[in-house]
Amino acid sequence: MALDTTETGENLCEFHAVEAHPSRPQRKAIPAGQLLINGKWINAEAGETMDVMDPTTEASITHVQKGSAADTQKAIDAAYTAFEDGPWGRMRHEDRAKILFRMADLMDERAEDFAIREAMDMGMPYTDFRTIIMPHCSGLFRFFAGQAMAHMDGSYRTSYEDNIRILTRREPLGVVGAITPWNFPLALTASKIAPGLAAGNCVIHKPASDTPLTALALAQVALDAGVPEGVYNLITGPGGAVGDALVRSKKVDKIAFTGSTSVGMGLIRNGADTIKHQTMELGGKSPNIIFADANMEAALQAAFWGIFWNKGEVCVAGSRILVEQSIYDEFVEKFSAMAKAAVLGDPLDPKTQLGPIATRAEYDKILKYIESGKQDAKLMAGGGAPKIGGKGLFIEATVFATNSNDIKISREEIFGPVVPVIPFKDEDEAIRLANDTDYGLASGIQTSNLGKALRLADRIKAGTVWLNTWHKYHPNAPFGGYKASGYGREQGAEALENYTQYKTVWANLG
Ligand code: NAP
Repeated sequence: MALDTTETGENLCEFHAVEAHPSRPQRKAIPAGQLLINGKWINAEAGETMDVMDPTTEASITHVQKGSAADTQKAIDAAYTAFEDGPWGRMRHEDRAKILFRMADLMDERAEDFAIREAMDMGMPYTDFRTIIMPHCSGLFRFFAGQAMAHMDGSYRTSYEDNIRILTRREPLGVVGAITPWNFPLALTASKIAPGLAAGNCVIHKPASDTPLTALALAQVALDAGVPEGVYNLITGPGGAVGDALVRSKKVDKIAFTGSTSVGMGLIRNGADTIKHQTMELGGKSPNIIFADANMEAALQAAFWGIFWNKGEVCVAGSRILVEQSIYDEFVEKFSAMAKAAVLGDPLDPKTQLGPIATRAEYDKILKYIESGKQDAKLMAGGGAPKIGGKGLFIEATVFATNSNDIKISREEIFGPVVPVIPFKDEDEAIRLANDTDYGLASGIQTSNLGKALRLADRIKAGTVWLNTWHKYHPNAPFGGYKASGYGREQGAEALENYTQYKTVWANLG
C-alpha cells in the first residue's frame, strides 16, 4: 500500500512555522526559589543556595535553595502524614479532578511565564515551548484527571461459590518521589505529577539542579489550585542528597525517575532495600531509518527535527540516521546543507531553531564527542561552537558521514546536536543496525510503503516507532523504553497502572 508522505512533510515543516510572538518576549527577573514543604515556602535548614545559570548569556538568573537529606525528610514526613491522615487519597475522584483541571487552567494562563523560565533556564526555544510543550503539559493534567475519574473504581466479581463475591479496589500507592532531568523540565515533571496526583498519591518533586525554574512555578500553581497541604512538596538540591534520601526512605512508596541510565541503575539498586515501586525513563540512541522510497523532502524534515529539535537535548532524538545506500550521497548532501543553514540564537527570538546547550558540563561533553567524531568519521556540517554577541553555550548542528555503527559517536548517547549518518543495503541490515544498541527508547521509519513500515515496526526493539514523522506526543500515547532505556510507561491510560495498586476484598454473602 502506498502512503502519501507529502502531508507528513508539510506537518513537519509547520513544526517551526508557528505564529510569531507579537513582540519578542524578554528576559525577566525570576525571584529566588524556596522549598515547598507541607504547603509552605521555606528556606533550606542549612541556609545554602544554588545558582541558576542562563546558557544564552552565561549570567546568573537567580538562586534556589540547596536542600539536604534533612530537608527531604521533612517533605517525606509531610507527604506521608498528608497521605495517611489527609483528605487527598480519600477524596471523591471528581473533587480531586476539579483541582487538577484548575491546575491545568492556571498553567495555560501562566504559559508566558513558564515559557520564559524554560527558555532562560535550559535554552528551549520560546515558540516551541508555547506551541508544543505547554499544551502537552496542561493536557497531561486534564487527561489524568479524566482517567482517574473513569478508571480508579474497582469491580464486583463472582467466584467458584455462589455465595462468595470478589470486590476489587484500586488504590493509590502512597508517597511518590519524582526525580526529573534538566532537559524538558516541565514536560517530564508533568508526566509524573499528573498521574501521581490524579491517582490520589502525595508527591515530592526533586527537579534537576541545573533547571529548577519551571518546577517552582508548577508548585505554586498546585498551591493556587487548592492542592491540600503536604500533598505536593518540592525540594531543590543535589541528587546525591535529596534524590538519594527519597530513594532510600521507607515512607516513599514509589520513585518516578527520568534521567541517565547510569544514575537510574543506582536508583534501582538503592531502592531494592525498601522494595520500591520504580519507573525508569532513561537514555536513548534512537535509529531513524530512511528508505530510498521515502518522500525525500519529508524524510529530510523528519531527520532534521528528529535530531536537532531542542538542540538534540532530547532523550528520543533521532541520533543515528540510517539511510538506504542508493540515496545515501544525495541524502547526506541535502541534510548537511540543512544543518549548515540551521539558525542558532537566543531561545526567546522567534527565528531561533537551536538555542544554547543547557549546561557548561553538557557543552564540554558534546565538544569532546565532536572531536571523537572527527577522528572516526567524515565531518559534513557543523562542528563549531560559535559565540553569539560574544556569549552563549552554542554548538552548531553537526553531521558526520560514516559506515560504522561501532564508533563512539554511533554508540553513545551524545545528547546534543550531533548525528552520524550510516548507510544500509536492505531491510534486514537496517533492522540489524537499528537494534544494534544498548538502548530502546524511540525509532523511526521513513518510507512510502505502509506495509513495509508496519512490518518493520514490529521488528524494532524500542518503545516508540514513528512512521514518516518524528517527535509526536499525546497524553493518550504510552511512552517509555525497552532495554537500557528503562521500564514502566508514562502517559496513556497505562501510566495510571504505575501509580496504583489493587486490593481484593472477599465477601461471604452468607
Ligand atoms: P541524571 O544525571 O541522571 O540526573 C537526573 C536526575 O537525577 C537529576 O534530578 C539529578 O539531580 C538526579 N540524581 C543524580 N544523582 C542522583 C542520585 N545518586 N540519587 C538520586 N537522584 C540523583 O540525568 P540528566 O543529565 O539530568 O538528564 C539527561 C539524561 O536523561 C539523558 O541520559 C537522557 O536520555 C535522559 N532522559 C530520558 C528521558 C526518557 O523519557 N527516557 C527523557 C529525558 C531525558 P541533580 O540535577 O541534582 O544532579
